[in-house]
Amino acid sequence: MPAESAAFTISPGESPRLAAILGKGTGAVKLLQTWTDEIVDDGVTLSRLSGEVRYADGFTETVWFAFPACIGGLSTSGNPWLAWMLPLATTLGEPIQMGLPVDGQMRQSVGQLVEIWRSWYPHLHPVKIEAPTLPLSSLPETPKAFAFFTGGVDSFYTVLRKVRSVGGRPEGIDALVNMWGFDVKLEHPADARRASSEMRLAASKLGLPLIEGRTNLRETRFKQADWGGLSHGGALAAVALCLEGAFQQAAIGASFPLRGQMPLGTHPDTDALLGTSGFRLVHDGAEAGRAEKVEFIARHPVALEHLRCCFRERGHGGNCGRCLKCYRTMLTLHVVGALDRCRSFDVKRFDLRKARRMYSATGIPQLLTEDLAELAQRLGDDDMVKTIEFSLRRSRRLAGWIRFLHAQGESRWARTIRRRILSGSPH
Ligand SMILES: [Zn+2]
Repeated sequence: MPAESAAFTISPGESPRLAAILGKGTGAVKLLQTWTDEIVDDGVTLSRLSGEVRYADGFTETVWFAFPACIGGLSTSGNPWLAWMLPLATTLGEPIQMGLPVDGQMRQSVGQLVEIWRSWYPHLHPVKIEAPTLPLSSLPETPKAFAFFTGGVDSFYTVLRKVRSVGGRPEGIDALVNMWGFDVKLEHPADARRASSEMRLAASKLGLPLIEGRTNLRETRFKQADWGGLSHGGALAAVALCLEGAFQQAAIGASFPLRGQMPLGTHPDTDALLGTSGFRLVHDGAEAGRAEKVEFIARHPVALEHLRCCFRERGHGGNCGRCLKCYRTMLTLHVVGALDRCRSFDVKRFDLRKARRMYSATGIPQLLTEDLAELAQRLGDDDMVKTIEFSLRRSRRLAGWIRFLHAQGESRWARTIRRRILSGSPH
């Protein structure tokens, strides 16, 4: 049972225990109760907001979000719960029921959001929401704002673009927020600690507090919703709205430029629709491509010191230095002449010839590699342009072979080919 009394219960007369005994579901994703308590994790006192959720098949579980206790009171509305339940409910085809009230503007806009998702993915379902509605609130002229921060290229770009003078503090950002349990799993605390120490140093050099939260969301039934293509925007919005008592705005660094937009969990057309009348969600930095962002952040020593672009944490500076994503980032830094100054990678192991082995045959990897080729062309690095064009041609050729060998059941050969290419961590 919760450590503190339940914030609310719903559907008087209905017993969750009886439904569980009878194996009877509610026919919905239903928030049964929420509560807050305090926990101590790694020596830090955290305020934890938990909710008991039951699904149509009767399965019940607890979803929680925890933040340093110094942040103050966490949300008491239904807004954060609606944000993460929405991608799951549209995936499962179950309505959402909760007794906590939801912001009136958010309630309207999520209808549009589900329609956008369904236009991308026709297998998704419409979502009926049963919840009380909160009256509209308003945004202050200067909202208190935070930016989501992983130490990667997109989040560094979002923050450093707001720095107006050398050594200055970013303007319009009051804090950085990182959430353990998203990119780094809760079961890997050593990875979290390693990345955390880099992020704390970066935040301190930027003059901003770093709020490090934790959540078990990705260990719950939420994982049935597609994280990359659909649900990670809802997860970030849930985190942001847990903090709606302390902040009124959150920036989510764009993963891709506007010109290359494709259906994705965070997207310029969808992120804002998960905000409320009193909390703005901003999809930030979509005007620039990834290579352009690297070019920009390479001017800032703090990024060159603490950049973390890979979640294979055991490598030098938190980056494995071997996957496609690491290699493409190192190549970009090389093209802009900043690789030698970048402490985040083991540059001694960098070998330009490996660029020919980059495997980026389709979709996002191809888009990002083409992005790098464009930058190299603009900066007059003809050798790099030729190398990348070679890798793209080779990727297309190999993709055909890999597909053919899989179709023939010759997956051993497909695996042999894969070992000879530079792939993995495509984003
Ligand atoms: Zn890597």
